[in-house]
Amino acid sequence: MNAASPGFIGCTDNYNAARTVLLGAPYDSTTSGRPGARFGPGAIRTESWGLETYSPILERDLEDIAFFDAGDLELPFGESTGALALIEQQTSAILEAGKLPFLLGGEHLVTLGAVRATAARYPDLHLIHFDAHADLREDYLGVKLSHACVIRRCWEILGDGRIAQFGIRSGTREEFEWAKAGHTALHRIGHECYVEGLGKLAEELSAKRVPVYLTVDIDVLDPSIMPGTGTPDAGGISSFHELLSMLLWVFRANVVACDLVELAPNLDPTGVSSATAAKLVREMLLAI
Ligand code: MN
Ligand code: MN
Repeated sequence: MNAASPGFIGCTDNYNAARTVLLGAPYDSTTSGRPGARFGPGAIRTESWGLETYSPILERDLEDIAFFDAGDLELPFGESTGALALIEQQTSAILEAGKLPFLLGGEHLVTLGAVRATAARYPDLHLIHFDAHADLREDYLGVKLSHACVIRRCWEILGDGRIAQFGIRSGTREEFEWAKAGHTALHRIGHECYVEGLGKLAEELSAKRVPVYLTVDIDVLDPSIMPGTGTPDAGGISSFHELLSMLLWVFRANVVACDLVELAPNLDPTGVSSATAAKLVREMLLAI
C-alpha cells in the first residue's frame, strides 16, 4: 500500500510497523438525501492539519502511536457490488496483516464491505452502531444495497443479538418494530441509553473479549453541530464530549475494526463539520 499524501496528521509512512490503518472509501452513489459524502475522507485529512497531534482529553499523542494512512480506494461509482467487493478485499488484507482497519466514508453503505471482511475473520463479531437513522430497511425504493439498509444487510451476516444501535431517532414504524422483535438492541438518546445501555454492554463485551466492529454515522450528532451530512435529523447528540465519552466506552471493549461515515463537507461551507469529524477521528485513533 502507498501512503496518502499528505495523509492524516501524525501518520507514519511505515505500513509494516502500523497497528491501525486508515482507509478512505469515497463512495456516495446510493445517498438518498443530499450527496457529497465522497468528499469526506479528503476533507478529514485536510482538516486534520489544523489540529494538534496531542489530545489533552486522552493525554496521548498521535506521534506515539503507529498508524498508517493508506489513502482512498478508487471505487466504481454507481456500481455498489463492485465497490463493496473492493472495500471487503482491502479490509481483509489489513486484518490478515494483523492490523486494525479504520474506514473513512463515504456513505454508510461502505460499512457493509468492511463488516463482511471482519465477520469472515471473527465469526462471533458484534456490531455497535451510532446513527440518527435505524438503517434497517429491507430495501429502499427496491434497492437492497442502499445506505438506508446497511445495518439490515449486516444483520443478515451477524444474526440476532449481535447488533446494538445508539442515538437512533429516525426510521419507519416497521424498522422500529423489527428491531424490537429482538433482532437488534435499538436505543434512542438520553441518559438511560448511555449508562444502562452502552455502559453495561461495553462492560459485558469487554469481559467476554468479544470482537467488536464500531460504525459511526456522523449524523448521530445534532445538525446544529454537524450540518455537513446528507440526511441531517434534528434531536441528536448535541455535544462533542457526549459522543466522545460514549465512544470511549466502546473502546473498552475489543474493537477490531471501525469506521466513520456520512460526512459531506460540501454541505457545510464553514468547514466546522469537517474539523469536528477530523477531531473525532484523532480521538478514535488515540483510543484504539
Ligand atoms: Mn447510517
Ligand atoms: Mn444516518
